Amino acid sequence: MDMKSIPKVELHYHLDGSINLELLAEFMNESNDSVSVDEIKSLVQVDSNCKSLREYLKKFQLITKHMQTDYALEKTAYHAVKDTSSHNVKYLEVRFAPWLHVNDGLSIEEIIKYVLLGLKKGENEFGTIARAILVCLRNDNIEKNIEIIEQANHFLGKGVVGVDLAGDENKYPQRNYKRIFERAQDYKLPITIHAGEAAGPESIRDAIELLGAKRIGHGISLIEDYDLINIVKEKNITLEICPTSNVQTKAVNSLHDHPLRRLYDMGVPITINTDNCTVSNTNITKEYQLLADYFKFTQKDLQQIVYTALEASFAEKLLKKDIKKIIKDEFTVY
Ligand SMILES: [Zn+2]
Repeated sequence: MDMKSIPKVELHYHLDGSINLELLAEFMNESNDSVSVDEIKSLVQVDSNCKSLREYLKKFQLITKHMQTDYALEKTAYHAVKDTSSHNVKYLEVRFAPWLHVNDGLSIEEIIKYVLLGLKKGENEFGTIARAILVCLRNDNIEKNIEIIEQANHFLGKGVVGVDLAGDENKYPQRNYKRIFERAQDYKLPITIHAGEAAGPESIRDAIELLGAKRIGHGISLIEDYDLINIVKEKNITLEICPTSNVQTKAVNSLHDHPLRRLYDMGVPITINTDNCTVSNTNITKEYQLLADYFKFTQKDLQQIVYTALEASFAEKLLKKDIKKIIKDEFTVY
């Protein structure tokens, strides 16, 4: 089976960490940091020698430094759709933290507007449907994060489909963000939370019970808690697993230790994603290939994962139905 051409759905894709390398080179050269694409690669990419999530996250500083203008944000978003469409992704959720892009004076509303504009242009040109998730940051204060929730509510149905929480989950436990995500729940905003990547299963439990998460970013440590596995299955909470990134950030020591196969076999809804195509030096085709080659997922398993992702996506109901039909039609040729 040709992994590149099977229809896919991707739910966990960071705009900054997936920036197109040539585009980043263009931005850097415009600001007189004259460097080649190869040089940039070594500055923003990690490999299997990466020691921790902290080391992984350091790579983002250089990228976000060059994503501070309307032009850069729109272009990066447009390229996200372009790049992803070449892997036959039918539906993509792109996430970004607006507060990382205010250095040149753009307002939060403007930042969201320009990202949505880029996604829309990409969608019109390449056919991949693209929606946005706004990311709250654990090291930002309550007021800043409440503004993200307010803006997500304002843009809901206009390109934004949900909210997320990211950052160091050990240093900043989920319970600190209860008030923020109560507001999100009041607005009926779909919620996904980064949890169980660097911390244990209690972080996943809190994300579900205290913050109202419908999806969990990574959720690797779920495998340590069988009661919680049952809760996740009962509530149909879906995991956004990113195998390559999980090894690099040391959420798992190696692919061999990755619980994704066991979780899948136990009936936990899992999806496969890239996290950060550029920082992790991956793409969605590579991740699917990994599932087939390393984890021995069959064609039927992979199709199941695509349907699970669509089902768990925050797409509008009717749109989901349309995409399901397209995916089904393409799968019939296999
Ligand atoms: Zn992530």
